[in-house]
Amino acid sequence: MRVTFPHMGNLWIIAKTLLEDLGLEVIVPPLPNRRSLDVGVRHAPEFACFPLKLNIGDFVGALDQGAEAIVMAGGIGPCRFGHYAQVEAQVLHDLGYDVEMVILEPPRGHLDGLLAKIRRLSGGKPLTRVWRAIRFGWEKLVALDEFDRALTRARPVERLTGSAARAHRAAAARLADADGVWATRRVGREGVREILCAAGLEESGRPGEPSWGKPFPRLRVGLVGELFMVAEPFANQEIERRLGEMGVEVLRPLYLSDWVRTHLIPRVFQPGRRRRASEVKRAARPYLGHFVGGEGLDSVGETILFDRQGCDGVIHVAPFTCMPEIVAASLLPEAGRDLGLPVLSLFLDEHTAEAGLTTRLEAFVDLLGRRRAVGGAREKW
Ligand code: SF4
Repeated sequence: MRVTFPHMGNLWIIAKTLLEDLGLEVIVPPLPNRRSLDVGVRHAPEFACFPLKLNIGDFVGALDQGAEAIVMAGGIGPCRFGHYAQVEAQVLHDLGYDVEMVILEPPRGHLDGLLAKIRRLSGGKPLTRVWRAIRFGWEKLVALDEFDRALTRARPVERLTGSAARAHRAAAARLADADGVWATRRVGREGVREILCAAGLEESGRPGEPSWGKPFPRLRVGLVGELFMVAEPFANQEIERRLGEMGVEVLRPLYLSDWVRTHLIPRVFQPGRRRRASEVKRAARPYLGHFVGGEGLDSVGETILFDRQGCDGVIHVAPFTCMPEIVAASLLPEAGRDLGLPVLSLFLDEHTAEAGLTTRLEAFVDLLGRRRAVGGAREKW
């Protein structure tokens, strides 16, 4: 069976590894681009979430290359992600594609159902083989997140614009080809070193980092919001790159491995994660006391935690009409006022123009720079 999946940042590298290791033929959709977005916008319901439109574009691209089945994550309420896969299957069906949609529902504390589904997908391979494939995919996921973290540190201080991103691309390509757990770990370690070195940084830490004439200490901005918009550079119009090139270090609380840890691995196996989730909830409580779907609660809680870490500001990104993030965006101005923390909420979709986004980011960074100049570095820096 030829299978495909939707893009979300570097997810394709892990999904390809996992599915190929299970013995499936994988068709990777073309990376999200203007054409695939146009296809999604044309065929998805007008008020569907922006990520769903991009998913449709990915699927059509892969189905046209011969994919027969789609592996898609399921979700639970109260937001629309819970019926994403069903809507997407219906849209593709209406377009005349005869495709099987394999939905991997979140395990909600019990891994057996999810494992059974992955096993069925593999054509009944032994559980040990399934587990090996998952472990291999996990190693790549962790390494890729480390590459991304290294890139956010390297970009604001690189001497030659784009050199850290080039090293990141080369490392990610080598990681995609790594054929075992040990090779993955080695490429992971080397990749982080190469990305940092491309910007003249030591692997060991911050003191003594060169600034190459860019402002130092750098401005630090927390990036919160809906997972897909934070993780997919095409959807957020490469916000991390833009900020990095303005000399801003971007801190993200949410990488793909964090999402997997939160949603797929039972908390009983990870006490650290449980503590972190309670910390985020406690921080959000003065403004929002319960789960509102997606990452809405995290956006509020993480913003407050970023303030405690001494960040200069927070950028909140979300797809237009995203319900949980609308709740968060209505609370963040009050939280920002109480904390004296500048917060910029950006709702993006297919109509967002690059020039408008750049202007808003430049104005925000300018504001942060002036605050820093007037008040000096924040005390907590
Ligand atoms: S979190 Fe927002 S964008 Fe994602 S499915 Fe829910 S409503 Fe849509």
